[in-house]
Amino acid sequence: MTITRFAPSPTGYLHVGNLRTALFNWLIARKAGGQFILRLDDTDPERSKQEYADAIQADLEWLGLSWDRVERQSERLDRYAAAADALRENGRFYEAFETPTELDLKRKKQLNMGRPPVYDRAALALGAEERDTLRAERGGHWRFKLEHERIEWADGILGDISIDAASVSDPVLIRGDGQVLYTLASVVDDTEMGVTHVVRGSDHVTNTATQIQIIEALGGQLPAFAHHSLLTGPKGEALSKRLGTLSLRDLRAAGVEPMALLSLMARLGSSDPIELRHSHQELIDGFDLDRFGAAPTKFDEADLFPLTARYLQSLPLEAVAEDVAAAGVPADKAQDFWDAIRENTATRAGIAEWWAFFRDGAAPVIEPEDREFVVEALRLLPEGPLDRDAWGKWTAEVKAATGRKGRGLFRPLRLALTGREKGPEMDRVLPLLQTIRARELLG
Ligand code: GLU
Repeated sequence: MTITRFAPSPTGYLHVGNLRTALFNWLIARKAGGQFILRLDDTDPERSKQEYADAIQADLEWLGLSWDRVERQSERLDRYAAAADALRENGRFYEAFETPTELDLKRKKQLNMGRPPVYDRAALALGAEERDTLRAERGGHWRFKLEHERIEWADGILGDISIDAASVSDPVLIRGDGQVLYTLASVVDDTEMGVTHVVRGSDHVTNTATQIQIIEALGGQLPAFAHHSLLTGPKGEALSKRLGTLSLRDLRAAGVEPMALLSLMARLGSSDPIELRHSHQELIDGFDLDRFGAAPTKFDEADLFPLTARYLQSLPLEAVAEDVAAAGVPADKAQDFWDAIRENTATRAGIAEWWAFFRDGAAPVIEPEDREFVVEALRLLPEGPLDRDAWGKWTAEVKAATGRKGRGLFRPLRLALTGREKGPEMDRVLPLLQTIRARELLG
C-alpha cells in the first residue's frame, strides 16, 4: 500500500512552501488509495509548541487535506534510542566531542586550503581513555559513519542522483544534550511506519543521501524519494524571508479560497497548465508527479485572487448560504442576492459588504451637469417594491422624457443609485436595494 507523510516541525505556522510538500504527499496517497500520515517532528522541546501543532491541523483541515493518523516524534523517543543502539552495535555510530567553535574553525581551515568543509573524523582516532576524559569534561554527540561510496537513487522529480558520500560530513544524529535529531528520527519513522514515498523540498537532497545509508544500516526498506523545487518570488527572488507573511492563515484572512490555493499549488512548477479545480477529486485526477521539473518555481500570491474570484463565481447559493445568511440577507432574497453579486464578488468578505450596500443604500454620486436629469428621473421612479422589469421600464420612461440614451442615460442613474461606476446589473440591483438614498434629493 502507498503510504506518504507530511512531517512539519510544530515550530511555526504552515506557509505556501510547506503546503507544496503537504499537497504532493496527500495527492500521491489519495490517488493510490493509500494512507497519508501527519507526522509532527517535535523532538526539539524548546521550539515545538502545541499552539503550532494545533494551527497546522487547523490549516490542513481548512484546506480539506485529511490525514489518516497523526504521529508525534516526541512520543517515539524509545524507538530512536533503540535504533541508535543498533547503529552502535554494527559499528556505524561514533561519539565525537568537538565544540561548535572547534568545528567552525576546522571548516574555515579546510575552506582556506580549498578543501570541502567535511568533518575530518578526528573523533575516530580517540582512545577509550581520551573519550572518557572528554565525555566527563564536555559531553559528546553521536555521528553516523557514512560508507565512502557513491549514494545513488532515481529521484521522482530530479531524475538520477549520485552523491559522493565522502563529500558529506558524517551526520550528527544525537546532540550533546541527548536530543535526537531529525535525520535519525525521520529514518526510524519512515521505515517503521512503512512509508513508501517521501516527497520533500530539494533542500533535503543531501539529507536523503545520508538517510539512504542509515536506512540500509538499520536493515529498513528504502522508500521512493522525490525532491520538489523550492518556491521563489515572482522575479525569482528567494522567498525564504517572505514566507513568514505567506502563512496559510494570512492567505485565509485575505480571503483566499482553499480550492484556489490548492488548484494553483497542485500545478505550479509542472508542465501542465494551472486549472481552477472545484473539488479535491478533480485535483487528484489531474495530478502527476512526473510532470514537475527541477527548476525553481515562481510563486506570486497575486495569482490566488483571480482564481478565488472565479471559484466563488462558480458556486451555487447552497455553497455560500451560510455566509449569505450570516450577512443578514433574508431567506426569500438569498437567491436573487447571490445571482446579483456573484460576478462582482472577489472574496467571501464581499458577501457581507454587498448586503450592507443593499440594506443601507449608498450616498448618491451626481455630476453637476447631471443633477437636473437625475432629479427628473427620480420623480419617475415608482415607490414600493420593484421587480426585475422595473429598471427596463423606468429607463425607457426616462429616455422618453429626457431624450437621453446610452451611456448618458445609464451612467448617471447607476451613480446616483449605487454611488459607484461598476457593480451588479442594475435590473438585479433595483429589486434588492432596500434604501434608495438618492430619493432624498426630491425633498
Ligand atoms: N521536519 C522536516 C522539515 O520540515 C521534515 C522533512 C521531511 O519531510 O523529511 O523539513
